[in-house]
Amino acid sequence: MVKVDVKYTKLFINNEWVDAVSKKTFATINPQDETVITQVAEGDKADVDLAVSAARKAFHRYSPWRTMDASRRGLLLLKLADLLEAQARYLAELETLDCGKPVKNAEEEVYFSASVLRYYAGKADKILGNTIPADGEVFSMTIKEPVGVCAQIIPWNYPIPMLAWKIAPALAAGCTVIVKPAEQTPLTALAVAALIKEAGFPPGVVNIVPGYGPTAGAALTHHPDVDKVAFTGSTEVGKLILGASSLVNLKRTSLELGGKSPLVIFNDADVEKAAQIAHAAAFANGGQCCCAGTRTYVQSGIYDQFILKAGEIAQKRSVGNPFDDVQQGPQIDKEMYTKVLDYIKAGKSEGAKCMAGGDKLGDKGFYIKPTVFADVKDDMKIAREEIFGPVQSILKFDTFDEVVDRANDTNYGLGAGVITNDITTALSFAKHVRAGSVWINTYDHVTSQTPFGGFKESGLGRELGEEGINQYLEIKTVTMALPNKPQL
Ligand code: NAP
Ligand code: MG
Repeated sequence: MVKVDVKYTKLFINNEWVDAVSKKTFATINPQDETVITQVAEGDKADVDLAVSAARKAFHRYSPWRTMDASRRGLLLLKLADLLEAQARYLAELETLDCGKPVKNAEEEVYFSASVLRYYAGKADKILGNTIPADGEVFSMTIKEPVGVCAQIIPWNYPIPMLAWKIAPALAAGCTVIVKPAEQTPLTALAVAALIKEAGFPPGVVNIVPGYGPTAGAALTHHPDVDKVAFTGSTEVGKLILGASSLVNLKRTSLELGGKSPLVIFNDADVEKAAQIAHAAAFANGGQCCCAGTRTYVQSGIYDQFILKAGEIAQKRSVGNPFDDVQQGPQIDKEMYTKVLDYIKAGKSEGAKCMAGGDKLGDKGFYIKPTVFADVKDDMKIAREEIFGPVQSILKFDTFDEVVDRANDTNYGLGAGVITNDITTALSFAKHVRAGSVWINTYDHVTSQTPFGGFKESGLGRELGEEGINQYLEIKTVTMALPNKPQL
């Protein structure tokens, strides 16, 4: 077992490490062997109140943060990106310990997170308003201002990238933040907090309060002095958050929620390559990915060949100790492990054909065999509900219009993919599918520069790219009367 030093377990408020007011702690578990890694301070309403008041003070119009040049905010983000990269191996190992993802993937995620910080660092001093030829004898312009104090509630599947996606645009815009990491993965957010302090962000600009959703999370979403909430997680909790925001003070709300994304493969595709793309789409991060391509639609001409290939690739997928060179570690926790195994049972009992996996792996830790179902029908549970585990459902189709209707027959709309060599088919699919990201001959290609988010019940607003920073800006229109025109 790799030994990883856990340095930070307290709440991070106002650039200080503090115990919870209640003195309570909670255990964070190693999903490899179900042992307790450490105890972490458990924030709740009292701690959220302290963090919000620190963030509000840091947002005062004469505070060091608000009076700092925008370009300097960018430099602080660049410094943080450098610090993240300098600690990439340590952060990756800590992440692997806490959430079970293969350490090489965790390390790639640290570099990706640094790239997001750098992208928004460059934006900090390029937040521009407009001058407007308004009616009347006036001069009119817009100013884009930071929204204010932001609550950011993040999930456990990509803890460091989710932290970067949230804090980078908020800080570039000049907001202050309180982050609540997921109860399953509080450790890396706290390790990054230490780097935030080292980078030189003033006290109160970033606060990190680990704790549970219904207590710490709900205290944030119900807080009257929080201006905005940004959330990534389940659609169910997303709806609660939107409700809470509207109940209290009409917080600006952005939501990145679940998905049941279709990947459509046409007859002209190379079967081997298509099966590899579809495999990665379904199984990346052990299937614990909001935009996972879990509904694989394959056209009838290549269907029989494809399902054999998909089964073969899944059987070869290496699953095991995430500190070794494997493709997949354990699922995040007992709850998700049990939920995924129940979906696998449902797939079998509803009559889908199991081409690979179909069971847990070993008796210790939350390991599940990569599972492929063929002959899946649109009304089966495994084709309709988000599983969030290593399960691919393969469905057969005949025509373009049929598959577009079937791909769109879901309340979700996060991602979609198409594999074909026919550009008309590819672009027609991209036009007609109702999803926030469409990938052609690739899948899950997410970058700092490209907006990401969902149609329908997959979310509200977009993260990353130009759109990502707009979520953290208010637009103020300033109109000034000009002297009356002299008579000519
Ligand atoms: P979740 O409950 O939606 O958790 C996401 C975050 O929201 C966590 O930080 C959670 O706190 C917090 N939260 C929970 N209830 C809250 C509330 N009432 N008010 C404010 N914050 C609250 O997701 P989950 O339980 O981890 O997973 C359940 C399902 O969500 C999965 O099966 C999957 O389908 C989906 N999911 C989606 C994503 C995504 O990227 N879109 C990520 C993770 C999960 P805790 O730390 O206490 O949980
Ligand atoms: Mg939950």
